Amino acid sequence: MIRTLRFTVRTRGRTDIVDITSQVASAVRGSGVATVFVSGSTAGLTTIENEPGLLEDLREAFERIAPSSRRYHHAETAGDDNGVAHVRAAMLGPSLTVPFADGRLLLGTWQQIVLVDFDTRPRTREITVQLVGE
Ligand code: ZN
Repeated sequence: MIRTLRFTVRTRGRTDIVDITSQVASAVRGSGVATVFVSGSTAGLTTIENEPGLLEDLREAFERIAPSSRRYHHAETAGDDNGVAHVRAAMLGPSLTVPFADGRLLLGTWQQIVLVDFDTRPRTREITVQLVGE
């Protein structure tokens, strides 16, 4: 069985972190593997404990790795101000694989699936969930 579902998420951009665990969880039935994918090259997916201090820690870590104040070549070559967003998204990656069994995602208690939108403006993101299983 392969099923493909999509949903959209509105974000504020600028390393906005949005918990999408419930949308993914509501898609699963039986047992198998869910691939979760965000379309677009300025957002990424990961898991984290959805706790405000930790989300701020993650934002600060991205700021250290790829500072928003830095000049990016993308501005000159593509005339776009979101080089920082592309670099951060490339490092985080656009997809996650999560196993599920008996209709439940096999996440840890303090492990939520989050969309991180790095773009320099608000966006509406399309998330694809592809389920492979029994
Ligand atoms: Zn760009």
